[in-house]
Amino acid sequence: MAMDPLLSVEELKTYLTSSRGVVKAVDGVSFTLDRGQALGVVGESGSGKSVLARAIMGLPLPNAARSGHVRFDGRELTTASRAQLREVWGKRIAMVFQDPARSLNPVVRVERQLTEGMRAHLGVSRSEARDRAVRLLAEVGVPDPERRLTNYPHQLSGGMRQRVMIAVALSCEPDLLIADEPTTALDVTVQRQILDLLRRVQHDHGMSMILISHDLAVVAGRTDRVAVMYAGRILETGATAGIFAAPRHRYTDALLGVAPSLTHRRHSRFRLIDGELPDPCAPPPGCRFAPRCPSADAACVTPGPQLRRDGGLDHMFACLHPVEPVPADLVEGGHNGR
Ligand code: ADP
Ligand code: MG
Repeated sequence: MAMDPLLSVEELKTYLTSSRGVVKAVDGVSFTLDRGQALGVVGESGSGKSVLARAIMGLPLPNAARSGHVRFDGRELTTASRAQLREVWGKRIAMVFQDPARSLNPVVRVERQLTEGMRAHLGVSRSEARDRAVRLLAEVGVPDPERRLTNYPHQLSGGMRQRVMIAVALSCEPDLLIADEPTTALDVTVQRQILDLLRRVQHDHGMSMILISHDLAVVAGRTDRVAVMYAGRILETGATAGIFAAPRHRYTDALLGVAPSLTHRRHSRFRLIDGELPDPCAPPPGCRFAPRCPSADAACVTPGPQLRRDGGLDHMFACLHPVEPVPADLVEGGHNGR
């Protein structure tokens, strides 16, 4: 019998009440994540990725109403008490955010930020926690870790701060790491180092990971599966290599069409898909991408289409006029070089 997934998200919704009305930030998201697996969540800015991350964690959001299910390691998180959630945060699920300057405490030395969680959650002694902190810093590529322990965050470069953040996230050996745009604030060379580091520690520690980015190139080659999110919904999901080689949803295809590869970003202008995301308070009926989709017709703006499976493969998309499938023997080898 197959093992239960580590994380199972079912019909998750988060609606936020704002001055503009009720923002349907996450509007019926379902997926599962296996142990040791990395999932990329991609989509344009504003598509609901960060709200989804918070909704999974059960982190408080002002004026938010959440429904649906989040089952983590056999436990329902949506009905868990604050005390139960505090046991999960940091220890079982850790997060890395875009801006390490804001997630690290500016007035606390690196040593305490690294050892606090270990001492609280793992009950290790002060000296053992310090030894572990040194090993963790070395693992995430911080040179001279003993000395770095005495630093305050402002004494570190952006890339080093993000490495420290990753070390903090790893410190209690979590089962799941959620990284939300972890490198967007960093320059291109450092971005790649940090992303490769995330993939390596995810693999070495046997963790699961959700890697969130507006940039497809970030998740390519660093995740096993990908979920393409748009206007609060997942429009396509499946194996990362398969989706990059042969996207089926018109939105995924459009995203791939404008994505510069990470290696060539320096030389290519950042382009966007024509048009804008729909009003999150009044998303269109039917396919939410239809208003921007060159292939859309009347059927696309009637309620539906739901995610459906692609010929029994582990690949789902919600598109009435999908891109023609690429024969399986051509999919081998991944990205088609766009
Ligand atoms: P992403 O991370 O994909 O860029 P977000 O999850 O941050 O997108 O936002 C999804 C939608 O929810 C957007 O329309 C955004 O404007 C809206 N939103 C995010 N946070 C709030 C909030 N605190 N109050 C009202 N609307 C919000
Ligand atoms: Mg975000």
